[in-house]
Amino acid sequence: MMMKIQSIRGMRDILPEETPLWQWLESKVRNITYRYGYQEVRLPLLEPVALFERAVGQSTDIVSKEMYNFRDKNGEHITLRPEGTSGCVRAVIENNMCYNTTQRLWYQGPMFRYERPQKGRLRQFTQFGVETFGMAGADIDAELIYMAKDLFKALGVDRYLRLEINSLGTLPERKEHRQKLVAYFNQHKALLDEDSLNRLETNPLRILDSKNPAMQEMLENAPRLLDFLGEESMQHFTELCQLLKSAEIEYVVNPRLVRGLDYYTRTVFEWITDELGSQGTVCGGGRYDGLVELFSNKGLPASGFAIGIERLLLLIQTVDGDKNITNKPDIVVTYEEANANITALLLANRIRQRLPQMKVLSDFSGTKLKRQHSNALKTGCRYIVTLNADGQIGLWDLHKDRSETMAEEKIWAIIAADAKTPVVTDRR
Ligand code: ATP
Ligand code: MG
Repeated sequence: MMMKIQSIRGMRDILPEETPLWQWLESKVRNITYRYGYQEVRLPLLEPVALFERAVGQSTDIVSKEMYNFRDKNGEHITLRPEGTSGCVRAVIENNMCYNTTQRLWYQGPMFRYERPQKGRLRQFTQFGVETFGMAGADIDAELIYMAKDLFKALGVDRYLRLEINSLGTLPERKEHRQKLVAYFNQHKALLDEDSLNRLETNPLRILDSKNPAMQEMLENAPRLLDFLGEESMQHFTELCQLLKSAEIEYVVNPRLVRGLDYYTRTVFEWITDELGSQGTVCGGGRYDGLVELFSNKGLPASGFAIGIERLLLLIQTVDGDKNITNKPDIVVTYEEANANITALLLANRIRQRLPQMKVLSDFSGTKLKRQHSNALKTGCRYIVTLNADGQIGLWDLHKDRSETMAEEKIWAIIAADAKTPVVTDRR
C-alpha cells in the first residue's frame, strides 16, 4: 500500500521558484553585515532546554508553551532552538570570545516554535540576527538600528516600517515599577482577561502588551516604566533618541513596548509594518546586559536584534508585487542528432570555461530539437546554442531575434561583447 507522507504542520518547503528571492535577500544581509564589520557565527540547532528556561524565562510564551523539547537517547533534555540570542551568548562564553575585546556577530538560520501556523507565523521559520558584546553605550544600540534601517532600504521596504522604541530600565528599576503595576492591575482586576490574570503573578509587564480592545484604555493609564528609570537609564535612553535624530531616523516612543523575552534591559525596539495584519513585527531587539552574567562569573553588556526573514519576504512581496528575481539561464545548449549528446556536453563545458559569468544549461531531455527549443524558450534564456546535424553550430539571440550559424570562437566573442564580460583565454 502506498503511504502518503506530508511535511509537518507549520514547516514548509522553499521551492526553486522562491529561492532566488531568498538568495537575493541573503546577499543583501551579507553585504550589510560586511560593511558594518559584523562576523558570522554558525550555531547548533539543538541546545539544552535549560539554556532557554534560564535566558528567555520560564514565564514567557516561548518557554511555557512554544518549545520543541525532547529527551535524546541518553536522556538529555534537549530542544530545537526557538531563538538565536541565547545560543549565541552560550557560544561566546564557552569559547571565551570576549576576553579583553568586543564582539559584533551575526547569524542566520531556522528557529522552531510550536505556535498556531498562519500567515507570517510558522513552526519552522528563519531569523537573521546580530548580537554585540562588551559595549554598554547607546552608540552601539543606535548602530544596530542604523544597520536594520540600511538593510530595509537596500530591500526597498524602509518606508513601510516604523520604528518603536522604549526603555525597560534595569532590574531594580523594573522591580519598583512592577509593584506599582501589580497594585494598579489589582485595582482594575475586573477588566483583566484570563490571560492577563494568569500573568499578574508571573509576568505582569507582559500584560501591557495585550491587544485585547476591552483593556486598552485601562492599559493606557497604567504606570509607565519610563517614569521609574534612574538617572543612568534615563540618560542612556535620551542619548539613543538623540543619536536617532542625528541620523534622521524617525521613531515613536511606545511606553508599552515590552518584548516577549525576559532578558532585555534598558533599550528595546521593534520595526513594525501595517501591511501584514497582526504579524506586523518584522524585527525585534534591544539590550540584554544581565544575560551573560546568568551563565558566567563575569557580566558583559550586550545588545542585538533579530529579523524574521519570512515576514520580511512577505512584506517585500506585498509592497512590490512585481518583484521578480528569477533563476534564468543565460545560454541553453541544444542538439539535433540523437547521439550528439556528448559533443553537446563538451560544447557546454567549453562555453562555461570561456564565459565563466554565464549560466549555461544543457538540454538532456532526449527529445527532438523542436521540443528542446520550446523547453529553452520557457526558461527565459537569452541565447540558444544549437549543435546542428551537419556539425555546424547555431547561435540564436532571443533579444535580437537573430539566428545564424558560425564558428565556435565567434559565439563567445559575440556573447561576451553583448554582456560586456571578458572571454577567458587561459583554459587551464
Ligand atoms: P510575535 O509577537 O509576532 O510572536 P515575537 O515577539 O515572538 O513575535 P521575537 O522572539 O522577538 O518575536 O522574534 C523576532 C522576530 O522573529 C519577530 O519579530 C518575527 O519577525 C519573527 N518571528 C517570531 N516568531 C515567528 C514565527 N512563529 N514565524 C515567523 N516569524 C516569527
Ligand atoms: Mg511570539
